[in-house]
Amino acid sequence: IGGHPKPQQGSMKPSGVKSIIAIGSGKGGVGKSTVSSNLAVALAQKGRRVGLLDADIYGPSQPRMMGINKRPASPDGKTIIPLKAHGVTLMSIGFMLEEDKAVVWRGPMLMGALQQMLSQVEWGELDVLLVDMPPGTGDVQLTLCQKAEISGAIVVSTPQDVALLDARKALDMFKTLNTPVLGLIENMSTYVCPSCGHEAHLFGHGGVADEAKKMDVPLLGALPIDLDTRLAGDAGTPVAAKDGPMADAYARIAEGLIR
Ligand code: ADP
Repeated sequence: IGGHPKPQQGSMKPSGVKSIIAIGSGKGGVGKSTVSSNLAVALAQKGRRVGLLDADIYGPSQPRMMGINKRPASPDGKTIIPLKAHGVTLMSIGFMLEEDKAVVWRGPMLMGALQQMLSQVEWGELDVLLVDMPPGTGDVQLTLCQKAEISGAIVVSTPQDVALLDARKALDMFKTLNTPVLGLIENMSTYVCPSCGHEAHLFGHGGVADEAKKMDVPLLGALPIDLDTRLAGDAGTPVAAKDGPMADAYARIAEGLIR
């Protein structure tokens, strides 16, 4: 790894990978990476061979969320051996970036980096490769959808109006690029007070479900604001890897996708 990646042409889909699912969002901070890591773990627990490609150039968080603190090896300087965590094969664009440096890559360089992560990484045989996309509707999304034969896209949003506004744009982008939208996931949908059990809707209520109906796409799940989810992500063991209600919630979303 290292050096400046060069732009490449042709299909980017690795040959051993059956399907690629892009996980996008309109805005940053809505939980797209959290949902990506947990869904990857939940699918692996259902016996699927799962890869997770962290393509979020602005904030690659999968190494931390999946608990990986070393770079992947590249014995011959060309192929990259991905790392494994919680049953998931992982590669992050964070491994190709210098920490604490802003990303100033132009489109063609981003394309080259994506190409490297798809074709030079030894993904092996995978049933599904989840791609944690950068938020928004930029070059990475465009390149991936046009060049990597994406089977479908999932859009994560909170029920808040400003998040939904941008989620709509992300949905529209996937539709324009002829990428099937598998569905929406509402994150941070409710908050249940741990001491009194009162349920509060900090970011509004039902917004993503309404949007799903309006756009005629499935609502794949609604996930609450949950302290364990945040703590587990920060500690490098996604909450889906532990027993509990959140693991069950992610297992249900995974089942819905497999069906
Ligand atoms: P994005 O990838 O959309 O930028 P992240 O997955 O990085 O968002 O999440 C942003 C922050 O919110 C992280 O600190 C994460 O731990 C936290 N978070 C995400 N989803 C939840 C949730 N359902 N409950 C509590 N904290 C969450």
